[in-house]
Amino acid sequence: MENILEIKNLRKNFKDFSLKDVSFFLPRGFIMGFIGPNGAGKSTTIKLIMNLLKKDSGEIKVFGLDNIKNEIEIKDRIGFVFDENLFYEELTALEIKKIIKPLYKRWDEDSFLKYIKDFNLPLNKKIKDFSKGMKMKLSLSVALSHNAEMLIMDEPTSGLDPIVRSELLDILSYIIQDENKGVLFSTHITSDLEKIADYITFINNGEILFSVEKDIIMDNYGMVKGDKEILREDIKKEFVGIKYSSFGFEGLVKDKKVIKNALKEKIIIEKPSLDDIMLYYLRREIHA
Ligand code: ADP
Ligand code: MG
Repeated sequence: MENILEIKNLRKNFKDFSLKDVSFFLPRGFIMGFIGPNGAGKSTTIKLIMNLLKKDSGEIKVFGLDNIKNEIEIKDRIGFVFDENLFYEELTALEIKKIIKPLYKRWDEDSFLKYIKDFNLPLNKKIKDFSKGMKMKLSLSVALSHNAEMLIMDEPTSGLDPIVRSELLDILSYIIQDENKGVLFSTHITSDLEKIADYITFINNGEILFSVEKDIIMDNYGMVKGDKEILREDIKKEFVGIKYSSFGFEGLVKDKKVIKNALKEKIIIEKPSLDDIMLYYLRREIHA
C-alpha cells in the first residue's frame, strides 16, 4: 500500500519548543486524526508539511514526492485548512474566489458555489465581518473545491457549531470513499474522530507518543476499575496511568488481555474513549 504522506525524523527548533524526530505515515485511502493538547506541535508539523516553515532536518513526502522540491505540484493536489485565517480581511468571498481560482488546475466552480450556499455564506460581505466559524467554512469551501487528492486540515472543527461539525465529518467520510484520497485532520476535540478516523497520531510536547490504527487502540486499550488492594507492583506497571478515589481505582492499560488474565473477575474493564486515552497519557507526564 502506497503512503500518501510520509514524515521521517522531522525536527524544528524554536526558542522554547522543538519538534523531536517526528515520524509517521498515512497510507492512501484513509483518514488520520492528529491529536494532542494545545501547544503540542500539531500546527507546526502541518506548517512544515505545507512548507510554510523551514524544517531543521528530516524528510517529508506527499504523494511520494519531496514536499519542497515539488512544492507547486503538491499544493495543487492538497486542499488545506489552517487554524488561522489566511485570507485578506478586506476582501469578500467572491473577490477571494477570483484570486484563488486561477491558482488551481482543477478548480470546480460549481462545487465552490454549492458549499458557499450549503454553508449559508454571504458572497459580498468582507471577511473581517465574518465570525470564526464563517471563516472556517470559507476555508473549507476552497479546500473542497479543487479536486484535491489529499486534505490537510488544522483544527477544522474549531469554531463550528455542532451541526456544521457533523456536516463536515459527513463530507470527509464521503470524500474518503475514493480510495485514492487521504485526510490528515488535527484536533484537540477527540470525539470528532471516534467515528471517522482510521489512524490516530498522538503528539505531545513535540514528540509522537503513538501513531496507530484506531481499531487497534480501541480493541486493546482498556479502562480498568477495581479495589486498591489488587494493585500489586507488577500489576501497576501495566498501567499507562492510575487515578485513585475513596471507592477504589480507575486506570488505563494498553493491553487489557494481560490485566484480565492476571486479575480475572476482580476487575471491571470498559472501552476507553480517545479522550480518556489522551488524558491518561498527559497525566502520566505531569506525574513523571
Ligand atoms: P498546537 O498546534 O499543537 O497547539 P503549535 O505547533 O502551534 O501547537 O505550537 C507548538 C509550540 O511551538 C508552542 O509552544 C508555540 O508557542 C511554539 N511556536 C509555534 N510557532 C512558533 C514560532 N514561529 N516561533 C516560536 N515559537 C513558536
Ligand atoms: Mg494549532
